[in-house]
Amino acid sequence: MRTVEHWVDGRTSTGTSTRRAPVWNPATGEVQAEVLLGDQADVDTVVASAARAFLSWSQTSLSARAKVLFAFRELVNQRAHDLAEIVSDEHGKVVSDAFGEVSRGLEVIEFACGIPHLLKGQYSDQVSTGVDVFSLREPLGVVAGITPFNFPVMVPMWMHPVAIACGNTFVLKPSERDPSASLLVAELWTQAGLPDGVFSVLHGDRDVVDGLLDHPDVAAVSFVGSTPVARYVHDRGTALGKRVQALGGAKNHAIVLPDADVSYVTDHLVAAAFGSAGERCMAISAAVAVGDAGDRLVEAVSEAARGIRVGPGREASSEMGPVVTAEARDRIVGIIDAGEREGARVPVDGRGLEVAGHPSGFWVGPTVIDAVTPDMSVYREEIFGPVLSVLRADDVDAAIDLVNASPYGNGTAIFTASGEAARRFQRGVKVGMIGVNVPIPVPMAYYSFGGWKDSLFGQSRIHGEDGVAFYTRSKVVTSRWPRVQQATGASYHFPTNT
Ligand code: NAD
Repeated sequence: MRTVEHWVDGRTSTGTSTRRAPVWNPATGEVQAEVLLGDQADVDTVVASAARAFLSWSQTSLSARAKVLFAFRELVNQRAHDLAEIVSDEHGKVVSDAFGEVSRGLEVIEFACGIPHLLKGQYSDQVSTGVDVFSLREPLGVVAGITPFNFPVMVPMWMHPVAIACGNTFVLKPSERDPSASLLVAELWTQAGLPDGVFSVLHGDRDVVDGLLDHPDVAAVSFVGSTPVARYVHDRGTALGKRVQALGGAKNHAIVLPDADVSYVTDHLVAAAFGSAGERCMAISAAVAVGDAGDRLVEAVSEAARGIRVGPGREASSEMGPVVTAEARDRIVGIIDAGEREGARVPVDGRGLEVAGHPSGFWVGPTVIDAVTPDMSVYREEIFGPVLSVLRADDVDAAIDLVNASPYGNGTAIFTASGEAARRFQRGVKVGMIGVNVPIPVPMAYYSFGGWKDSLFGQSRIHGEDGVAFYTRSKVVTSRWPRVQQATGASYHFPTNT
């Protein structure tokens, strides 16, 4: 049985803990590897390595850092397909989808290649007679990233290229469900010329998370995952005086107006609801049909959902893979059961799906649930599976109210031919990322990613300028260089500018 090890000081390491967790192949239902689960001693070892590396990496010139970033970008580009296959084998998503997440991760590396420009400070000449002021940004130290199973390459890449480019050293605690891609990423960093200890991977579960949160030498924590854990990580980390950005779960709505083209909406809605088996934080899980759009929409979406080819992620014919674990499958099926009990209709039912040749895979087929109301558990809970709920609203304002009543505020979209309705929607919703006729409005790397309300704890969104600000601390220097230093006599009033 293959063991997925940690990455410390530029090489793999077995660490000290003997605890392990299974890594499943979701398409076959078999255990394909075991991942080490670190303990407090492992946390101490990794953080000490990262703290040592910080001493020199933080002093490395901007151009030397940028060179490593450019080399890393080339290597990730060359190995993108290998990374996608590793992701597909452990997560279950189809290879083309996994390739897409690597591509979006690459965009963050490309953003971080511009670090000399991004770290430029400001300079004010002669703010007072003979006095100049300038600002600069310095790295924080050792920073940690704790990431979810659903984007094992992209979500860590939202963090580490920016953190490292800023001069920090980075400890990644990936999801224990699909841990292997992080090791290839670590190898590529080393090949790119990154000094040992600047990027480390420590596998584990809650013990490692707590160890990183509590460690006095960890200056900041970036977290992406479910809302309860995001809140916990934020509260525990900030109570200890650390910087924390903690991105949580989501329930993303697509509002469909009667003037939207049904075939256009259907193509985009099924892709956004069922792509990656709905295991995306920006997946659309609730469609809100406005006015008389509902019945046409349910009919068209149901027909498209029935046609989706479900199979192993490695098979080119598959459009949707399995869900990540048997536990996830059972939880998703349980929520669909509850929806039906509470009075919803299930025109497309993915429960009990069988895939030929793969009897033990973790399958749930695309599922459409109609006549959903806001009080039903199928609407209130984040399902994180291939399930699209359809609700109805009388008009755009009622749809906006529905979106705003949700505790989540990650992403949302509107489908319409009306610029007036789109503008009212984009101004009215309390949500961080909004699409207009775009179902999954994930911002480009040079903007920042993050939701509102229970989808983000802390003040800072991820990557883009917010990312640079999060991973650095600013200084403002006020200086005077008189031609001749001579005593002028002490004055005891607060200094005023002359
Ligand atoms: P999760 O919260 O279970 O796990 C995330 C990370 O936290 C993992 O590394 C895990 O090992 C660790 N963890 C789990 N339980 C913990 C605990 N009790 N204490 C400390 N650490 C713990 O999330 P997941 O199931 O891996 O990922 C799916 C979730 O992530 C969904 O809710 C999804 O919406 C969310 N997500 C959000 C975004 C976003 O940008 N907002 C992006 C991707 C995923």
